[in-house]
Amino acid sequence: MNDNNDNEMEIAEEFDANREVGPWVIKDVVFEKSGSLRSHFPREPRHPQVAFVGRSNVGKSSLLNVVVNRKRIAKVSRTPGRTQLVNFFIVNGDTRLVDLPGYGFAKAPKEVKSQWDKMITSYLLDNLDLRLVVTLFDIRREPTEEDSGLLDWLKHYGIPFLAVITKADKLTHSGQLQARQKWIKWLAPWNPEDILLFSALNRQGKDDVLLAIGKTLAGQ
Ligand code: GDP
Repeated sequence: MNDNNDNEMEIAEEFDANREVGPWVIKDVVFEKSGSLRSHFPREPRHPQVAFVGRSNVGKSSLLNVVVNRKRIAKVSRTPGRTQLVNFFIVNGDTRLVDLPGYGFAKAPKEVKSQWDKMITSYLLDNLDLRLVVTLFDIRREPTEEDSGLLDWLKHYGIPFLAVITKADKLTHSGQLQARQKWIKWLAPWNPEDILLFSALNRQGKDDVLLAIGKTLAGQ
C-alpha cells in the first residue's frame, strides 16, 4: 500500500469516529449535482456515500422521498431511454446520498444498456467513500439477470449492500413473510447486510432502513 492509500484509510476512519450508532437522522438535504461521467462525480470534499439502485419502476424515487422525508427529492417515474444521470445530494452537510439510475427498461435500446453499465462501473470503481449500496427489489417480481449482475459487481468490489424489498403493501402480512423467505434464499450467495421489507405507501420499514444505514455509517 502506498502513502496515498494510507492517507485515504485514515480519512475513512475519521468519518466513523464522529458518528453515533442509531438511525440515520436526516435534518437537511441539498441537491449537489448530476452527472453521467466519472469526471462529473464529486469527490471533494470527502464524505461517506450511500447509494440507491434498482430496476426501473422498483419504487426507488418513492423510497427516497419517504426516507429523506421530502415530497419530491427524486422524480417519480423517468422516461425509458432518456439520458440517465447519477444524482448527488448532501445530507446534514456530512454524507453524500447517491441516486443511481434505474436499470432494466424493457424497451431500452442497447446503447442505453451499455451506457448504464459504464456509468455504474465508473461510479463503483475505486470509490473509497462508498459505504453502502441500498439495492431495491419489487416484492412481487422475480429477480432478473440484471439484478444478479449488479450484485456480482458489488461483491467483486467488496461493497456492502442492504437489500430492501419494495411495495410490501401489495401483499398480505403472510404473503410478505413468504416473499421475504424467497428473497433471503435468492440473495444468500451475495451476503447482504440485511433484508428489509418496505412500503412507500404506508411507510412500513422506513425506520429499519434508516437504522441500517445509520449503523453502517457509524461503522457497525
Ligand atoms: P422508480 O422508477 O424505481 O423510481 O419507481 P417509482 O418510485 O417511480 O415508482 C414506480 C411506480 O410504483 C409508481 O407508480 C409508484 O406510485 C409505485 N410505487 C412505488 N412505491 C410503492 C409502494 O411502496 N407501494 C405501492 N403500492 N406502489 C408503489
